[in-house]
Amino acid sequence: MTDFTGDFRMAIGGAMVCGSLTMPVINPATGEPFAQAPRATRDDTDAVITAAREAFVGWAGKAHPVRAKHVRAFASAIEAQTDGLSALLTREQGKPLKDAEREVAGIVAWLRAAADFQLPVEVHEDTSERYCETRRVPIGVVAAIAPWNYPLLLAAFKLGPALVTGNTVVLKPSPFTPLATLKLGEIAQEIFPPGVLNVLSGDDELGPWLTSHEGIDKVGFTGSTATGKKVMRSAADTLKRLTLELGGNDPAIVMHDVDPQKIAPDLFWASFGNSGQVCVASKRVYVHTDVYESVRDALVEYATLVKVGNGMEPEIQLGPINNQLQYDRLLGLLDKCRMEGLRFACGGEVPMGPGYFLPPTIIDNPPENARIVCEEQFGPILPLIRVQSYEEAIGRANASTYALGATVWCADEDAGWALGERLSAGNVWINECRPLSPLVPFAGHRQSGLGVENGLEGLLEYTLPRTMSRKKNPIASD
Ligand code: NAD
Repeated sequence: MTDFTGDFRMAIGGAMVCGSLTMPVINPATGEPFAQAPRATRDDTDAVITAAREAFVGWAGKAHPVRAKHVRAFASAIEAQTDGLSALLTREQGKPLKDAEREVAGIVAWLRAAADFQLPVEVHEDTSERYCETRRVPIGVVAAIAPWNYPLLLAAFKLGPALVTGNTVVLKPSPFTPLATLKLGEIAQEIFPPGVLNVLSGDDELGPWLTSHEGIDKVGFTGSTATGKKVMRSAADTLKRLTLELGGNDPAIVMHDVDPQKIAPDLFWASFGNSGQVCVASKRVYVHTDVYESVRDALVEYATLVKVGNGMEPEIQLGPINNQLQYDRLLGLLDKCRMEGLRFACGGEVPMGPGYFLPPTIIDNPPENARIVCEEQFGPILPLIRVQSYEEAIGRANASTYALGATVWCADEDAGWALGERLSAGNVWINECRPLSPLVPFAGHRQSGLGVENGLEGLLEYTLPRTMSRKKNPIASD
């Protein structure tokens, strides 16, 4: 039985390793350290990559159904540990326990879906002269790098596809949320051959060590656009394959025909779920002038009912901000809103006491050049912006270097769909926000990403095409 209370170790080549250094992990609901995680050294990094390379030949050589069976067994072993993993996730990440349980259920679903995909074989020619086909082969050793907002789910986006297609993996969680991931590594050692799935935790040095290491063949990265660019630069020297899922400043457009009371809860959670720490949260909401006041008031009314606090308490709906760095950034954004003379429709006050808490905050019709509109806030502060026309809404929504997701809220679904087709984003949703699925491709456009996660396209990102052809009827030797 896995112990979730302490004893956090790294999985290196099948061994559970304490490492020579440690780092504290802080519970964002208290602001206090509650556990120590290993802090990987450069030697640990070299050792883990050597182990993953050694394991690659054997793992890649297994038949696809055998690898899929291992991945399914891993999913079931995780499912059996849902309670321990969820509680740990809430303590290190801050999200309410129910949300943590949903995240664990998410990894299980994502792993199972990856195991169910079949790799395509494309036959280009099968004539009397020649047979020619393309099959997909694994890339090698994958560094999977995850952020702190959904540490397990965003790891699973990479793990299932990488493992089932025959790669070996070094998984690196964020230094803010290493613990549940380390436990995932421990669970994996019961299932996979040594070196197939390794987990290293560490500080800011570890990511660059991995992305620049010549023993890594592919990087699957989720995080900010600024870090994504560093990853790309550092991967260039060895021409690593890359999948980058990066930041977003997702627009939502609320059309004139909505019922404000009816959409308020969905609109609220689209922006404030996980305390706004979601890559595809609605981060700026453009509301048609006909319904601006009524939508704002319905949102404010709903926001005041939502319970913010320690995610371990059962009635809590929104937890704290995950870490001091991000909390300070958000406090800076609030100060900037005040300095810019913006109106707060609700929230904005910083509670006394421990923990990185902020109430849901709505900024009432800031100008387009306000910092809260231009920047990705990644927290519970939402600019609500009045627009006079849909032309104006589309123009403003698309004027961003980001293009991750976008949403339209409407009564006339055809009109909403037509408006959605004009939005520049990798995913556009009508009357719902982020119904992500392991079966559906997810890809950021512009500076929101490179490549695809999820769906068959996401799986193929962990493979390379290999084409073979055979000339038939060889010329008879005489
Ligand atoms: P971050 O970029 O700071 O860190 C992400 C991961 O990269 C962490 O594990 C971190 O330790 C590691 N890292 C840091 N510097 C590195 C370097 N130089 N080389 C390699 N790895 C390095 O991001 P974060 O603060 O953890 O997460 C928030 C950001 O992630 C937001 O911008 C959010 O929009 C984005 N995000 C995107 C998606 C998506 O799917 N597009 C999903 C979730 C979060």
